[in-house]
Amino acid sequence: MRRDRKAKIIATLGPSSSDEEDIRNLFRAGADVFRLNFSHGDHDDHQQRLYTIRKLEKEVERPIAIMLDLQGPKLRVGQLAGGAVELKAGAPFRFDLETAIGDDRRAPLPHPEVFASLKAGTTLLLDDGKLSLQILDCGPDYAETRVVAGGTLRDRKGVNVPGAVLPISPLTKKDHEDLAFGLDLGVDWVALSFVQRPQDLLEAREIIDDRAAIMAKIEKPAALDCLEDIVNLSDAVMVARGDLGVEMPPEVVPGRQKDIVHACRTAGKPVVVATQMLESMISSPAPTRAEASDVATAVYDGADAVMLSAETASGDYPIESVEMMQRIIKSTEQDPSYQRILHARDGALEATAADAISAACAQVATTISASAICCYTMSGSTAYRAARERPFAPIMVLTNKRETARRLALLWGAHCVHTSDVRSTQEMVDKACALAVQEGFANIGDKLVITAGVPFGTPGTTNLLRIAWVSG
Ligand code: PEP
Repeated sequence: MRRDRKAKIIATLGPSSSDEEDIRNLFRAGADVFRLNFSHGDHDDHQQRLYTIRKLEKEVERPIAIMLDLQGPKLRVGQLAGGAVELKAGAPFRFDLETAIGDDRRAPLPHPEVFASLKAGTTLLLDDGKLSLQILDCGPDYAETRVVAGGTLRDRKGVNVPGAVLPISPLTKKDHEDLAFGLDLGVDWVALSFVQRPQDLLEAREIIDDRAAIMAKIEKPAALDCLEDIVNLSDAVMVARGDLGVEMPPEVVPGRQKDIVHACRTAGKPVVVATQMLESMISSPAPTRAEASDVATAVYDGADAVMLSAETASGDYPIESVEMMQRIIKSTEQDPSYQRILHARDGALEATAADAISAACAQVATTISASAICCYTMSGSTAYRAARERPFAPIMVLTNKRETARRLALLWGAHCVHTSDVRSTQEMVDKACALAVQEGFANIGDKLVITAGVPFGTPGTTNLLRIAWVSG
């Protein structure tokens, strides 16, 4: 079974998409990667969904990636009298470390590290930016503020401190527990929330090692100041526009989205555009024109994947949302201007054998109208470099590592096949031709471009390009 598109679809699972039939239908509709959002649900829910995906994987004989999205150090207001209070514009309001229940003049903010980062003039945003407060005076355990934009403040609502680099780890106690649980279950990707600095990736890598690939979620403006280092230390990056759009003005987010996508494409790292892509489909069977245009923009920019959150997790139209996303991707990729826009900002090649071969593969495949580029890879690095070129031909990823096949389900243009290793060039050609026919990429007489690292089975040695004719 092959998908006739290059950009991938990530579907978040939740109450609207949990049983076997739901997950099968989401996959059939086009989901390539399933996201388990650990900000919601308990371990039993996630475990059940993971087992269902692995069962489906056997049934459809296709590798499917599973992403564990950690909640991260989301700051939250403590308890409030009656569950909610009304904050009036212009009124004073205090945050402190006291445990007493809050009212309309003060509230607990149980995050001691935050107070150290505040100064007079700092803005605090509450409840996804719906309310804003300005700091007038602060100390190690309190902050006196004035309400700038008022409204109803409810218990446990999120707090953002835009612009501040908070001295907090990206992994909370809950994240450590969730991570241990998810890694034992065998998730393929871990999405790290609220990454602020390169050190956050090193901290996560220390624990995760190579048991899963790491995706850095860019949702703090501070991360943009060291984007290149974060991209280099991550296996992939997510433009997490939900929190990013709270931490910085929404009108700035589109430009930063383009910067992040460009930085990742230049580095050859997968990049995901996320949040509110088809938001109105949470409650409506059709998207707005603006939403369709937003998905198309990410596809024109060459994002590896576009993500659905509440649309598939808790919306009324999860299947329709994936179907719609697939239709927008296909239509965009078939647009006559797609190739020109996709390659308008291609980054310079790295001066390595791997990049020279990958660029040559893309060029040769176009010149001879090859049906596919077949990449032999163990770690996935040959496939990452091939996808970096955004070739016209589809990329068949042939790997003897099941984890690589699953992880690369996220990669632009990649159709992954888990297969046994090859030991000679002839075996490499024969297997590529047979699998290209079997997977629906080629017919007898078609041409393939094959790339690999020789000696076979040595990771990181991409150095071979071969043209093959599929024979009977
Ligand atoms: C986001 O903020 O855009 C995002 C994807 O993160 P979460 O859904 O975990 O808030």
